[in-house]
Amino acid sequence: MNDSTKPYQISAFSAEFTDPSEEQAFRAYIRPLAARSLRVALIVWGSLLLLFVGQDWLSLGWSDDFVTLLVCRVLQAGMLFIFVFMLGRKPQLVSSGRVVTVLEITGFFLFMPVYFLLPEVAAFTIGVIGLMLLSMFLFVPNRLLLTLLAAVTGVVLTLSCMAWNGRSVDILFGAFFILMLPVATGYFGAQQLQMVQRRQYAMFNQAKEANLALEEEVERRKLLEQELKRQATTDPLTGLFNRRQYEMLFRRERERCRRQGTAICVAMVDLDYFKALNDELGHDCGDMALKHVATLFTNQLREGDVVGRFGGEEFIILLPDTGPAEAERVIERLRQTLENTPVSLQGEPRRLTATFSISAVLDDETDISETLRRVDRGLYRGKRAGRNRVVMV
Ligand code: GH3
Ligand code: MG
Ligand code: MG
Repeated sequence: MNDSTKPYQISAFSAEFTDPSEEQAFRAYIRPLAARSLRVALIVWGSLLLLFVGQDWLSLGWSDDFVTLLVCRVLQAGMLFIFVFMLGRKPQLVSSGRVVTVLEITGFFLFMPVYFLLPEVAAFTIGVIGLMLLSMFLFVPNRLLLTLLAAVTGVVLTLSCMAWNGRSVDILFGAFFILMLPVATGYFGAQQLQMVQRRQYAMFNQAKEANLALEEEVERRKLLEQELKRQATTDPLTGLFNRRQYEMLFRRERERCRRQGTAICVAMVDLDYFKALNDELGHDCGDMALKHVATLFTNQLREGDVVGRFGGEEFIILLPDTGPAEAERVIERLRQTLENTPVSLQGEPRRLTATFSISAVLDDETDISETLRRVDRGLYRGKRAGRNRVVMV
């Protein structure tokens, strides 16, 4: 779209969009419909021409003049039918309007012999030309200014033939006004029709654009909502569930296991001597160590197990559908993997250990805090007993 034009501005003179690319798009959009209407109009036009052969025969009988008219009519109808056939294969021929305009102008030239060869129906012939002019605007889909060009050519040609035939100036003036009447009526009728078509197209497109913008906005908000939800439910450093989300997940899993009659265990993890690591290597290294632990836990545990960070260097692991003996095996393996998978900090491998405390969730515990109190006591015991161990409570 040009910067200088408002979107979907229509010129009243040409009844076309002032922006050429918009006009092109409109013509491409209307092409199937225009091609179909044009084919119908051309078939009607060609058939009428052939019908006139009957009238020529009645007026002239079998004569040279009749043959001249017959050739003109058949030539013209033939051209029209060939174009109808071509349009069926190449509907894009309708878009530029050039071929139709050439057909219309040629049509006038081929029609004119009628005026000379049937002088007794000359007035009738002028009437038919007037009808042809009106029909061109209203029934033959073409660009308005090209139709106007063809129509003016037709009027000039008719008046020239009349002058050639020795008609007086006042008759020519009369004929001019009679012929300009259908041209003016046709022009304004077609102008209104074409402008309405374009306005409808513009409205349809604007609605489509608004819809698209709305869809984009909805999508953007959805992503924003997802991001906000992620931020609200996960710990930014490790990407693990945060405490609030964890409590919700605990209740959900607890309920599911109760319904299915399976056991569920909770393990609390506290890294050993983590303060010392922070003091020695700095807080950033401490953060890297926490990420390392989070990744390791997530990778080692099963799909259904849920790992969360409960703040500081404490993690919590929920083991649904798992009894205490199985939980102890899983957690012991995790403890060993942690111990045997050093993290690289400042280019040096650093061994991390943690103390784990496990408890089965009791039947009457629906809130995680009761279970947590128990595992916390186990953790305390584990620390006192020398750390890097698994305690069952
Ligand atoms: P213990 O073996 O008894 O658990 O010893 P500890 O040093 O781990 O003791 P404590 O649990 O009291 O110390 C936790 C330390 O964890 C304190 C703080 O320096 C560190 N810490 C807590 N949160 C973060 C964090 O987000 N990043 C880093 N780098 N360090 C943290
Ligand atoms: Mg701690
Ligand atoms: Mg600790």
